[in-house]
Amino acid sequence: METAVITGASRGIGKAAAYELKKAGFRVVGTYVKSEEQAQQMRADGIEMIRCDVRDFEKAHEIASSVGDGAAVLVNNAGIAHTSLLQDLPPDKWDEVFDVNCKGAYIFTHALLPAMIRNKYGRIINISSMWGEAGASCEVAYSASKAALIGFTKALAKEVAPSGITVNCIAPGVIDTDMNRCYDEQTMAGLAEETPVGRLGTPSDIAASVRFYASPSSEFIKGQILRVDGGFI
Ligand code: NAP
Repeated sequence: METAVITGASRGIGKAAAYELKKAGFRVVGTYVKSEEQAQQMRADGIEMIRCDVRDFEKAHEIASSVGDGAAVLVNNAGIAHTSLLQDLPPDKWDEVFDVNCKGAYIFTHALLPAMIRNKYGRIINISSMWGEAGASCEVAYSASKAALIGFTKALAKEVAPSGITVNCIAPGVIDTDMNRCYDEQTMAGLAEETPVGRLGTPSDIAASVRFYASPSSEFIKGQILRVDGGFI
């Protein structure tokens, strides 16, 4: 059974991707930080959940060593948002957003890539955001970190293409998860209305695209940014 590693798998998009890839026949190893109860429930459902901050270089490499023959799929999903005017954004918050959203993808890729290269097979899937392409007012650090992840995707896709590895990106629109709980009902209704399809996205909408990129038949797709945004952009 091939292994899929998903960062930030305890809630939202990562959790939906974990169940989707399990359904597709993968052994799924997920990471989380705070959501112990959700992790317990997922363990009961056969998903291996390991507590690991995506910024923890050593622990990421420990996970890579414990995976056995190496992971076939890595989903760099863990992410945090931050909303404020740029002039109210302190440097430590800027660093935190970049470290989780962008450096975390570097860390887990650094850990899992050697086995993929050895196996001459891998599927690396980065969860960016439509704001990484379009830019969101009051979310400069978040948008910039997600744009960086797009650059990471395009560059690494070229670097590892000869090794049978694909690196691709998904740019979700507004998805109904905890990440958006900071917005009131009226704001969320407005965002649903602004989405041409007329509703917010669901974690399953994104998980379906993760499954598509994770499949062996996506071999010829390299460095692409798949917008799954209901037509928002
Ligand atoms: P969410 O519901 O807030 O869940 C975030 C997940 O990331 C949780 O499982 C959380 O684990 C984990 N996480 C947070 N910080 C972490 C860290 N330092 N190390 C490891 N795991 C960490 O968010 P979501 O909406 O599912 O978002 C998932 C990804 O999609 C993010 O990269 C986000 O930027 C992107 N995205 C979301 C939307 C949207 O509208 N929701 C749109 C575009 C892109 P714990 O709970 O255990 O801490």
